[in-house]
Amino acid sequence: MTSTALDLPGWRHVYSGKVRDLYVPADDRQTSDADDPQTSDADDAGSTRDSTDGAMLIVASDRVSAFDHVLEPGIHGKGAVLTQLSAWWFDQLAVPDHRVVDTEELPPVPADVSDRAMIVRSLDMFPIECVVRGYLSGSGWKEYQATQSVCGVALPSGLSDGDRLPAPIYTPAYKAPLGEHDENITFERTVELVGQEAAGALRDLSLSVYSRAAAVAESRGVILADTKFEFGRDASGRIVLADEVLTSDSSRYWDAAEYAAGRRGVSFDKQIVRDWLAANWDGSGVPPRLPHEIVERTAARYRELFELLTATPAPRG
Ligand code: ATP
Ligand code: MG
Repeated sequence: MTSTALDLPGWRHVYSGKVRDLYVPADDRQTSDADDPQTSDADDAGSTRDSTDGAMLIVASDRVSAFDHVLEPGIHGKGAVLTQLSAWWFDQLAVPDHRVVDTEELPPVPADVSDRAMIVRSLDMFPIECVVRGYLSGSGWKEYQATQSVCGVALPSGLSDGDRLPAPIYTPAYKAPLGEHDENITFERTVELVGQEAAGALRDLSLSVYSRAAAVAESRGVILADTKFEFGRDASGRIVLADEVLTSDSSRYWDAAEYAAGRRGVSFDKQIVRDWLAANWDGSGVPPRLPHEIVERTAARYRELFELLTATPAPRG
C-alpha cells in the first residue's frame, strides 16, 4: 500500500495503514536537538518529552475500507473531517494526548494536506485496542449471543442487539500485526501483555474518556454506542492518548432521536457503504466501485456528525 504515500517536502514516508499514512521528518534535526541540554527546558520531570519523543505526521486519506477491503473511489473530505473531529475531541478530553504543540523545530505541514494532517509524538504504542462499549452491537453482540459475556465481562441475560448496557464495559482487543484480524481478549490477557499497572491504567483511562465523550455526544443528540482508543508511552513513561479519537472510523455513533423512536443502528459512519456492498457484492475478488450517490450520502453523513458534535461547519476537504 506504499503507493498511496505522497511526496511531502520535509517528510519521509514510513508506514501506510488502510486509511492513514505516517511520515517522519526527513532529517534528524529534532533528534540531535533532543540531546542538547540547551534546548530542553527541564523545569519538571515530564518537560523533556516533546524533544525526546520523535515527531510524526499522520495524514488521513479519503480512503474508506469495509470488510477489510479499501474501496474505490474515496469519500471526498473524509480525511479532513475525521482529522478535525479527532482534534476537536482531544480538546474536550482532560487527558494527555499525542499532539505536538510546539512545532517550531519541525518541517512545516505541507499545505496540500494541512486540513487532514496532525503532528504527533511518536510513542511506544501498547498492542491493545482499548474498546469501550456502552451498548451491545457488532462483535460485542455476536460474542454475547454465544457466551452471554463480552471479553470475559459477564452480562445480564435477555439483552437484544443495540441495547444499552447497565454500565459501560471495557472490552479490549489485541492489535494484530498488519493484515491480521484484531482479536477480542480478556482484561487478564492485557495484564499478561503489558503488566498489571499499565493494563489497569488503560482500562480506567478508557472508561473515563468514554464516559466523558458519551455525555458530550448525548448532549448533542448523538449516542456514542462504542469506541476504540489506542495509547502509547512517551519517553518519560507517561501513558498518552494516541491515534485518532472518537471519529466515525473508530466509533459507533447513532442518532439518539432515531434510537428513541425504535429505529436502531441509524449510524453516522460508513454503514451506507457496508449496506450497499453487502447487497451488491458476493465477497469474492475485487469489490465493485461505489456509485456516486453512495459516496455523496456517506460524505454528507460524516459532515453531519461533525456539525452535530462540534456545532461548527464541517471542512469540505
Ligand atoms: P488499519 O489499516 O487496520 O487501520 P493500522 O491501524 O496500522 O491498520 P492506521 O490506523 O491507518 O493503520 O495507521 C495508524 C498507525 O499509527 C496505527 O498503527 C497506530 O497504532 C499508530 N499510531 C497512532 N498514533 C501513534 C503515535 N503517537 N505514535 C506511534 N504510533 C502511532
Ligand atoms: Mg488503525
